[in-house]
Amino acid sequence: MFELLKTDPSSKARLGRVTTTRGVIDTPVFMPVGTQGSVKALDPRELQEMGTKIILGNTYHLNIRPGLDIIRDAGGLHRFINWPLPILTDSGGFQVFSLASIRKIKAHGVEFRSHLDGNLLFLGPKEAMEIQRVLGSDIAMVFDDCPPHTATVREVKEAIERTVRWAGECREQPRAPGQSVFGIIQGGSHAEQREECAKAIVALNFDGYAIGGVSVGEPETEMMKAVEHTVPFLPENQPRYAMGLGTPAQLVELVARGIDMFDCVLPTRVARNGTAFTAKGTVSIKAGFNKSDWRPIEEGCECFACRNFSRAYLRHLLNVEEILGLRMLSVHNSHMFLKVMADMRAHIAAGTFAEFRREFVGNYIPSERVLATRGQTKVRGADE
Ligand SMILES: [Zn+2]
Repeated sequence: MFELLKTDPSSKARLGRVTTTRGVIDTPVFMPVGTQGSVKALDPRELQEMGTKIILGNTYHLNIRPGLDIIRDAGGLHRFINWPLPILTDSGGFQVFSLASIRKIKAHGVEFRSHLDGNLLFLGPKEAMEIQRVLGSDIAMVFDDCPPHTATVREVKEAIERTVRWAGECREQPRAPGQSVFGIIQGGSHAEQREECAKAIVALNFDGYAIGGVSVGEPETEMMKAVEHTVPFLPENQPRYAMGLGTPAQLVELVARGIDMFDCVLPTRVARNGTAFTAKGTVSIKAGFNKSDWRPIEEGCECFACRNFSRAYLRHLLNVEEILGLRMLSVHNSHMFLKVMADMRAHIAAGTFAEFRREFVGNYIPSERVLATRGQTKVRGADE
């Protein structure tokens, strides 16, 4: 499934290729998030034009609405949403542990109330794999226990025990044709727990491995530690996925730490606040200083929004709440994230990743507000 094409001599960065029945994915790759069966404000044609090779769908949300029967009737998620390329579905574990209320953790899953209507629901390894089988995703994720970053060592240990046991149960469930399954490694930012969990999950022999329990509101240093404590125990010849991350500069730093795959709601989420990502950090397009700025969001950007519209016009659209403004910021931001990944692939291939990393991270001024938004993304996540 995964071919390791090249490694960077200056870091752990790698160039690779993931092959699925619906398409080939060059890595490092960014996967736009289509939680509810749509990458917010973007249509499949736009996504493909900007170079998207794989998107995310969400088991928890799609199972609640529209419900599995509708998607089964449609002939699977690809047909339902008319997306011909690969889809990765997350297992719903994260949402159950962060969104749902009144839960009872049982031996084979979690009893919880829907965040939507309070209905009593149950999701465990068997259910999560069955839903993902019907969705027909190309890559399915195991059902895991994702503890909050405030969890005690004891709670983290319990979460690991369940995560490993449930991963084993997921492993035994039937899959959709051609569907790969990735294991998830938990363990907070503790070196020992990450190692223990990684070794146990890798022993179960999955098609790829994800680092979970990051982007749950922890500081960036802890997030980087969680990744550094996990990567050494993951096989070289399989894809590695960091779940729910991050800002453009964080993506570069995580690629340098050996990660191949990413998903994040930031590009479309901050677009809806009128904020754009640029190589120098974020900029508020809504702000007054763009009133008569006739430049594009970012000089040199080849996205549809930058090729066609000025900051002044986009600011106007945002101020009068025209949908086009949000759509164009979503186009630009998603394009920007995909472009950073394409640049990294080109630089790893050319042997110039170290220079690229130094320059990119040096020029990028992180915004505290956006970092805070990242921390909230999934904890609050009901609207994603
Ligand atoms: Zn642009």
